[in-house]
Amino acid sequence: MATSGKVIRCRAAVAWAAGKSLSVEEIEVAPPKAREVRVKMVATGICHTDEHVLEGNFPDVDFPVILGHEGAGIVESIGEGVTSVKPGDKVILFPLPQCGECSFCLNPDSNYCLKSHLTEPQNLMPDKTTRFTCKGKQIQHFLWNSTFAEYTVVPEYTLAKIDAAAPLDKVCVFACGFSTGYGAAVNTAKVKLGSTCAVFGLGGVGLSVVMGCKAAGASRIIAIDINKDKFAKAKEMGATECINPQDFKKPIQQVLTEMTGHGVDYSFEAIGTADTLIAALASCNMNTGVCVMVGVLPAGSTVPIDPFLLLSGRTCKGTLAGGWKMRDSIPKLVASYLEKKFNSDLLITHTLPFILILTSRRDAQQLSEVHLCQLVDTASSTICNSSLPFLPLQHSHRDALLKDAIRAAHSPAHALLCGPSPPALPFMECEDRSTRNLSAVLLLPALLCPSSPEKTVI
Ligand code: NAD
Ligand code: ZN
Ligand code: ZN
Repeated sequence: MATSGKVIRCRAAVAWAAGKSLSVEEIEVAPPKAREVRVKMVATGICHTDEHVLEGNFPDVDFPVILGHEGAGIVESIGEGVTSVKPGDKVILFPLPQCGECSFCLNPDSNYCLKSHLTEPQNLMPDKTTRFTCKGKQIQHFLWNSTFAEYTVVPEYTLAKIDAAAPLDKVCVFACGFSTGYGAAVNTAKVKLGSTCAVFGLGGVGLSVVMGCKAAGASRIIAIDINKDKFAKAKEMGATECINPQDFKKPIQQVLTEMTGHGVDYSFEAIGTADTLIAALASCNMNTGVCVMVGVLPAGSTVPIDPFLLLSGRTCKGTLAGGWKMRDSIPKLVASYLEKKFNSDLLITHTLPFILILTSRRDAQQLSEVHLCQLVDTASSTICNSSLPFLPLQHSHRDALLKDAIRAAHSPAHALLCGPSPPALPFMECEDRSTRNLSAVLLLPALLCPSSPEKTVI
């Protein structure tokens, strides 16, 4: 490709510091070094783990950083020694590498690679340098993915080639959310036919757990969330009952134990708090019950557990990325998706233009009300002008800001932003992760072209 071997200037959402809004910036992306691959991102999901980083709750992440780890794209160029992909290949990037050489990778029973972030922080590439710069500053990588960018560079063992027929805007969720939840049920818990399950948290991960439990043949899947708007989708995916802990005076573990006699066979915590982890553990039966911790609790936190919860035989175990050896498994999951063995498309609630980070379910609703995705005409959109003011979206002001942004985009002052032959813009797949409170940035003025006002629906 014409860009091969050259520095690419493009856009990315940069997290300058914990607690600060993401900021869309123009960045430089260096060419890949040996055993690295540069990828043009096409779609990325948003996982709550990205939000944990912004909250300062994820261990060993250095700022400034480009987040995002649920991405799919097309190989732009490869470094020396790369053999598994070539330019033009469709790939999924994933947050848990599979180097294929370390003792953990060689263990067929484990998917944890010793090159993973929890062992060797992935803020820099394996050679301890970064491929990203912005305004003269070095920008850190995240989980060797950094998918909130138009181009990224990753080690070869952090991506896998997938079927050319796969729709990247749908299968990007296999990089984390779907694989994690589905795998937590089928790989980590190994849910048995006819068993009972409880799933705490119905974000993209929890809903994928529900799908996994259903696929494994669970007879009863009780879905738990404080947001009852999640229940319809959970039922569509296989939940047999949905309950809101706030509807009960007694602890939810007691409710579940009474509902099932002695507690469920398998419980899954897909939220990320100590209280819900304890509740999930106490909800599975005291004999053979298995509780799978999927949610990521704040780094450095501790969970006070009554030892009697474990003494009688319950098991509490964790899962990373659903237990899949990702490089081996993702192409197979994509093949199963193409064969329609499961419908992970149900997880995708909104398809939005680059780059919009949702802040809450309410925001998502508002966005869907204005049909944001229909506003964007990629063929006539323009590249971001980094001098544009980005709009921090406050919950209460989002609707008004959206309207302002759209009006601004149609004002003559912004007309020059629409070039005649702009590059195609990548899209973000946004799953409805209701509790996220990422401060948002919206690139709408740059994305809307004044010459196509008919795209505006509000
Ligand atoms: P999300 O924010 O989209 O979903 C969380 C859900 O939990 C929401 O529906 C919310 O309403 C619900 N919830 C919040 N507090 C609750 C409570 N007290 N009781 C009941 N429900 C409650 O998050 P997500 O993206 O689906 O991720 C879920 C968790 O999984 C996060 O902690 C994330 O970091 C973690 N995660 C872990 C892995 C892994 O490999 N283990 C991979 C991906 C994500
Ligand atoms: Zn994730
Ligand atoms: Zn390894």
